[in-house]
Amino acid sequence: MGKRTISTVLIFTFLSITLVGPAAAHGKTSDTSPPEARRQFLLEKMETLTGIPWYLLAAMDQYERNVQRSRPDLKEKKGLIAITVPSRLWTGVTNPDPEDTIPESILFFGGIGRDGNRDGKADPNNELDVLYTVTRFLSRYGHTWDDLREGLWNYYQHPTPIDIITHIAEVYKHYGTTQLDGNHFLMPLRYNYTYHNTWGDRRGYGGLRIHEGTDVFADYGTPVLSTCYGYVELRGWNRFGGWRIGIRDLKNNYHYFAHLSRFNKDVKKGDVVAPGEIIGYVGSSGYGPPGTSGKFPPHLHYGMYKFNGKNTFSFDPYPYLKAWERATAKKQRDAKKKEKKRR
Ligand SMILES: [Zn+2]
Repeated sequence: MGKRTISTVLIFTFLSITLVGPAAAHGKTSDTSPPEARRQFLLEKMETLTGIPWYLLAAMDQYERNVQRSRPDLKEKKGLIAITVPSRLWTGVTNPDPEDTIPESILFFGGIGRDGNRDGKADPNNELDVLYTVTRFLSRYGHTWDDLREGLWNYYQHPTPIDIITHIAEVYKHYGTTQLDGNHFLMPLRYNYTYHNTWGDRRGYGGLRIHEGTDVFADYGTPVLSTCYGYVELRGWNRFGGWRIGIRDLKNNYHYFAHLSRFNKDVKKGDVVAPGEIIGYVGSSGYGPPGTSGKFPPHLHYGMYKFNGKNTFSFDPYPYLKAWERATAKKQRDAKKKEKKRR
């Protein structure tokens, strides 16, 4: 038996126990565990067997789920794994049958679809077949972070998914879990601030461009907080935005905070942040060379952008800000009540 055959059999055995067998017997998860926990358990097993980090697979899965949720022309894949291998990639570009599931003919036509559960079919709707196929594909390129990025490049053929997936992966890796929910309002509620629905305005401080965000007016030095779990993709100066910071969250959204007076020195490009973490302070920077400030009243410009698998587009953050403001206020009230009870 060749080395490859052995590993295939191992994967099959492990995975069939993981998915089909009584999950509770493994101690760590059970059928009643949240799907996130069961997914992570499955992907950790895949890492043991294939060397592809669980958090990268989880990020790939999350990225595809986000795309499916943001696109009316796509359906969200049911089950634990949302990864959907395009049929031409699965069966092979020259394959006359785009729904081919015969492993031998897929191989012949250069498709990447493989049979992971050993039922004789390479089925793109079977989770084990999908995971086995994707990990085999990525493994071709090697296992360093650069190798994995190269593998993702060859899989998606688009630069944005590579950044989004590797950055989501950094967040999962940092916390050791995919169960990261919750947002926070972008300033501490006890500070004075005002904001209106200004998205799409031609006024505001965006010149002649359409205003892609909400301006939150507050005094100089008011702390600016991360609204999400995310990865700092950008930090520095931009002619229009002044000192600005960009955070990628776990839902294919990019959060843009501009006109800061200064950054939190401890939060740098490439860092992972949590909701409510201070990332900088309100200012009026921008509209000139680095350091330009005071050309308009101090405020935070906050923008949200989504990538849907094809394009990046701006959307209105105002309803989200309102919802996070309410949720943050409620959380603080509840915490106070608890505190009172304890005394
Ligand atoms: Zn603005």
